[in-house]
Amino acid sequence: MPEGKIIKALSGFYYVSNENGVVQCRGRGIFRKNKITPLVGDEVVFQAENDKEGYILEVKERKNELVRPPIANVDQAILVFSAVEPEFSTALLDRFLVLVEYNHIKPIICITKMDLTNDEQKSRLDGFAGDYRNAGYEVIFTSSETSEGLEKLSPHIEGKISVFAGQSGVGKSSLLNAIRPDLDLKTDVISSHLGRGKHTTRHVELLSIKNGLVADTPGFSSLEFTDLEVEELNACFPDIAQISEDCKFRGCLHMAEPKCAVKTAVVSGTLPEYRYEHYKDFLLEIKDRKPRY
Ligand code: GDP
Ligand code: ZN
Repeated sequence: MPEGKIIKALSGFYYVSNENGVVQCRGRGIFRKNKITPLVGDEVVFQAENDKEGYILEVKERKNELVRPPIANVDQAILVFSAVEPEFSTALLDRFLVLVEYNHIKPIICITKMDLTNDEQKSRLDGFAGDYRNAGYEVIFTSSETSEGLEKLSPHIEGKISVFAGQSGVGKSSLLNAIRPDLDLKTDVISSHLGRGKHTTRHVELLSIKNGLVADTPGFSSLEFTDLEVEELNACFPDIAQISEDCKFRGCLHMAEPKCAVKTAVVSGTLPEYRYEHYKDFLLEIKDRKPRY
């Protein structure tokens, strides 16, 4: 049986791509029985009726599953931040990073609109980039205006399923357009998907860009820690998680516990203070979360 990847879901049809092209498939009753709804990004086994049409027989096990937008097997989230307009914020970046880490998706940090920065802003951003690289993250500076850094971003997209994420207006659609000029996303098309109201049918599509697949809808539009538990936050900060191996208490939350290696690392300057401050802010936010019914 042929296999392929769902690249688009629309009105009950799943568009399955494989080496022979795209086949328009319907799901069969088995999905309803097993409570599996095929998602864009799913690897599936299908039965072809002819060159253009077929049925999905089986959905392969998923690596992960995003809710907004509904996509399976996302390899990475490209977190787009503007250097200025709006101003780069480590608090917002750390929030995105936690949400992405929690979903077991690899983040790539992209700081764009670099053409609008002066030397002072550049060196401040270089400092932050150093901190995030030390934490193990990839940081790429770009500009859709001058094409700076696009050659660094493109190879990351190859062969992967990527979701772009970031506040509205930071330059996500401009970046996609700059990477693949024939795409012509009109800079506000992607943004309008963010306001969920307009579109009654939830239509998601993976666009083929630079030999990779990129979701046409930004991810992580809800920035709340709805599902996260306090004990899970440590692992969402890889730099803190690594240092915490030396905390005296197992399961140390790095708050009031004595002999906390994380607090020591802040004092010695090994861990940037703002990372720890954001960790604490998020921890309190999770603690204060109203119980859900
Ligand atoms: P999105 O909402 O994240 O998709 O952001 P857009 O791509 O729509 O960009 C928002 C605004 O920022 C638009 O007016 C763009 O022209 C502008 N913009 C985006 N990227 C750049 C850039 O690299 N340099 C400059 N100077 N402006 C940019
Ligand atoms: Zn600790």
